[in-house]
Amino acid sequence: MSSENTSTSGTAAAAGPAPKIGFVSLGCPKALTDSELILTQLRAEGYETSKTFAGADLVIVNTCGFIDDAVKESLDTIGEALAENGKVIVTGCLGAKAGADAGSNLVKDVHPSVLAVTGPHATQEVMDAVHLHVPKPHDPFIDLVPEARGVAGIKLTPRHFAYLKISEGCNHRCSFCIIPSMRGDLVSRPIGEVLNEARALFESGVKELLVISQDTSAYGVDVKYVTGFWDGKPVKTRMLDLVAQLGELAKAHGAWVRLHYVYPYPHVDDVIPLMAEGLVLPYLDVPFQHAHPDVLKRMKRPANGEKNLDRLRRWREICPEIVVRSTFIAGFPGETEAEFAHLLDFLKEAEIDRAGCFAYSPIDGAPANELPGALPDEVREERRARFMEVAEAVSIAKLQRRVGATMQVLVDSAPALGRKGGVGRTYADAPEIDGTVRLLPPEKASKTLKVGEFTRTRIVAVEGHDLIGMPI
Ligand code: SF4
Repeated sequence: MSSENTSTSGTAAAAGPAPKIGFVSLGCPKALTDSELILTQLRAEGYETSKTFAGADLVIVNTCGFIDDAVKESLDTIGEALAENGKVIVTGCLGAKAGADAGSNLVKDVHPSVLAVTGPHATQEVMDAVHLHVPKPHDPFIDLVPEARGVAGIKLTPRHFAYLKISEGCNHRCSFCIIPSMRGDLVSRPIGEVLNEARALFESGVKELLVISQDTSAYGVDVKYVTGFWDGKPVKTRMLDLVAQLGELAKAHGAWVRLHYVYPYPHVDDVIPLMAEGLVLPYLDVPFQHAHPDVLKRMKRPANGEKNLDRLRRWREICPEIVVRSTFIAGFPGETEAEFAHLLDFLKEAEIDRAGCFAYSPIDGAPANELPGALPDEVREERRARFMEVAEAVSIAKLQRRVGATMQVLVDSAPALGRKGGVGRTYADAPEIDGTVRLLPPEKASKTLKVGEFTRTRIVAVEGHDLIGMPI
């Protein structure tokens, strides 16, 4: 589940209704691609779409300014949206048109009350405007996309990474979770649609694609792995096929693909060789939640009968570089000290690279609330703290092994072209949830760093959960 994903520690909060965005897409296929990119980002961040202007919290109109009729249609649509909703963001070709006076804007001249106006290909600016007017309420329990570390909760996803949501809902019924009752059973998006979206994202400059869903390993189960079509060829709606195609697309664009929310099912074994080949990043976000079989059964976790430690060992034999991130719950109802100790042993033996932990917190409506053996808050909190101590020791020991290595780093920030250094990430770190590499100012004067580009970096030291590197 997604709860299993975001924070490194803490307790889960109650869910609120997702904000709704109305969307009108006018114009040519290029404008449609822009619309798809914006809708992808909205969906990935947890916004819902509204079929009516009145039922939305905000409306986005993607306009066309090609011929007079198109201009009129766009301006009329903006007028309707303003009348019925009042909160409107305008994007697209018409948004780039100048008004009658020098320096003015046509849309703003006609409709001065629009909240923001952008030109075409402006996903990021549109998202920034959405965040400003309808903030995404971050809920660590249900969000698939991690909370931004930005100012006042405004999420500023840089253009060079993007989330690709491949399905909605979940077929599992974990006892601590209410996502299936809120979002329903698994509905996989058609593989052609997912791959088109991925291609559009890569073509728009995305260098890291983060695949998200409630259960990425279950992709296609609901449609019985039906064969779909993409680029004129048959492709099965199945995790392995999806990952292979995404890997090929990423390779063609010199980009990364990172997989989140994968369960340790036997069929995931087939994806590991793709990691060893370098098609997708050797990084797996596996929400284990616990390690003791009895606790996993009480949690009703997917793949709870699997021998997770053996499976991880096998994965690492096939692809030794694999980095595993996971989240856990400490203090689940009935958890004995022995079961908790088993969890700590697992953490050490499995060498989980990045682990987060929630102290168990009952969620309204979750079946686990009825389980006997609820533990006092202090015990849950104390176990979470003990867990994090062990997790940090394991993680730092693994980071130490990187010192001296040369790694590819994707640059996330580089003021003044990196003359004073910058910040980036290796394959081992997902944005917002894992660590970073603090990039030192390059020794070579000719070397510059640019956001969204890769740089070869020699790792020189460990600093807390992060690395320090010298770009070479
Ligand atoms: S039911 Fe289980 S697998 Fe599904 S979203 Fe909830 S925690 Fe995740």
